[in-house]
Amino acid sequence: MSENINENANNNETRESVNFIQKIINDDIANRKYNARVHTRFPPEPNGFLHIGHAKSICLNYGLAMKNNGKFNLRFDDTNPVKEDESFVKSIIEDIQWLCPQWDGHALYASDYFDKMYECAVELIKKGLAYIDDLTADQIREYRGTLTEPGKESPNRNRSIEENLDLFTRMKNGEFENGKLVLRAKIDMASPNINMRDPVIYRIMHEYHHNSKDKWCIYPMYDFAHPIEDAYEGITHSICTLEFEDHRPFYDWVLANLDEFKDEPTQQIEFAKLYLSKTMMGKRYLKQMVEEGYVDGWDDPRMPTISGIRRRGYTVESLYRFLDEIGVSKAQSVVDIAMLENAIREDLKEKAPRTMAVLDPIKVIITNYPEGQVEYLDAENNSENEAMGTRKISFSREIYIERDDFMEEPPKKYFRLFPGNEVRLRHAYFIKCNDYKKDENGNVTEIYCTYDPATKSGTGFTERKVKGTLHWVDANNCIDSTIRLYDYMMETEDYDKTNFLEKLNPNSKIVLENCKLEQNIKEFKVGDRFQFLRHGYFIIDRDSTDDHYVFNQIVSLKSSYK
Ligand code: ATP
Ligand code: MG
Repeated sequence: MSENINENANNNETRESVNFIQKIINDDIANRKYNARVHTRFPPEPNGFLHIGHAKSICLNYGLAMKNNGKFNLRFDDTNPVKEDESFVKSIIEDIQWLCPQWDGHALYASDYFDKMYECAVELIKKGLAYIDDLTADQIREYRGTLTEPGKESPNRNRSIEENLDLFTRMKNGEFENGKLVLRAKIDMASPNINMRDPVIYRIMHEYHHNSKDKWCIYPMYDFAHPIEDAYEGITHSICTLEFEDHRPFYDWVLANLDEFKDEPTQQIEFAKLYLSKTMMGKRYLKQMVEEGYVDGWDDPRMPTISGIRRRGYTVESLYRFLDEIGVSKAQSVVDIAMLENAIREDLKEKAPRTMAVLDPIKVIITNYPEGQVEYLDAENNSENEAMGTRKISFSREIYIERDDFMEEPPKKYFRLFPGNEVRLRHAYFIKCNDYKKDENGNVTEIYCTYDPATKSGTGFTERKVKGTLHWVDANNCIDSTIRLYDYMMETEDYDKTNFLEKLNPNSKIVLENCKLEQNIKEFKVGDRFQFLRHGYFIIDRDSTDDHYVFNQIVSLKSSYK
């Protein structure tokens, strides 16, 4: 494990803090706040595929709703009229369905509440709590002050309510060009929290919106829209990530000043974002990798997107196991990706059938085995789960083993095959190497062995021991396939996002052709997972065809017994 391991992950503090939001909810229920209702939401911007950080947020929100007999909303945060891509909406819904199989699949859209948001803005103007400003964006920034200096009031701050209402209506009617006027909340230019220094709440944008079409040329700012979306839907606990902590006073201010919401305002609760070592997160960066061809699409198995993780072969159970282990806290940290890998190993250990696959084959000829003879040997499907039963594997005169399981001149402590040495073939016999053949380039092409019929696996043979056990497949009865091996996306642990493209691991994907698999694989289908003995866990990829299998490596084995 690297040094970046989440420091909180393994101690009791996290175990307790898993419940820090649940604790708030418990108190609220006890006090009959919100009438003891619990209603959470997940509000993605549909501008990319979701990643494992979002999965943390989804599972947290959905989990809290379920645990407390509450409700959960998926709400697309589409108040910004940027071009929305339908494929993002579709992928987000699919991801949530995968993570939350009980979810009803119903999606809400923040843009459906534009009328409501406009009404709320008018209410604030009427209460003298919002004003139209014609300072330029630069001037607004200049007037805002700094962390150490208070801001300066705009000369327009004390415009009359009538004039504000008139200008806002005209803004809405399209009388002004982009940037000419803005609507600002009237709070406190001297507030120590810059977010409270009369933030802009509506701006002019003559832009087409995918949902409201040409109806609007003014759009609400996120910080104003979000509390209204939450409260309007009856959300009780609005769970978000830490970067919104400083925005909470404004969130509260908005709801406290709107008659419809002030009596039972939604409460915002923040938790720390998930980051993974050796992995780029952030939709913006992932999008760049997709668009510039650094990966094979959003669901490339190397991607930390939920669809990438799914295609890589991770199970929902393993994700929950991982999320449970890292917990929820307010302390920002980077979680070692090894924890995620462990979760899938643990999950598949007893679930995935084990089989033999030779990734880099070299032929072994068993010279004393009768030509044309085939026998079927018993092999257990999972040595850690007897209930998975056994299968028959064929054995004949020619088999494949891994190229690196043979050496002409082995170093000390090499227990695999070399001239004069005897090894065990898993589920079969002992074989002894007598000779080998090389091509004109000096590469070994064939290995000649003899087998000892007395050493058949499962017969209790104990007369002599061998130190090496090799996996193999029957050369006369096997399947050719493509196997993709994956390594980490980033080469460094370093989290600096500048020039991140230069830090990508150029060897994160290796494609092996002509790998040899047991014939039994034929009984399986896309999405089935296996342990290839000594190699790790693999899944049958959707790129497979009826007569050609493609496997993705999910994760290596922690300890290979080489
Ligand atoms: P990114 O930074 O990857 O672009 P985002 O925050 O812009 O993500 P949104 O679609 O705006 O993505 O966020 C939807 C929800 O997911 C928000 O509530 C946000 O706080 C949460 N979220 C985003 N990234 C993470 C993360 N790494 N860990 C946990 N929650 C996250
Ligand atoms: Mg965002």
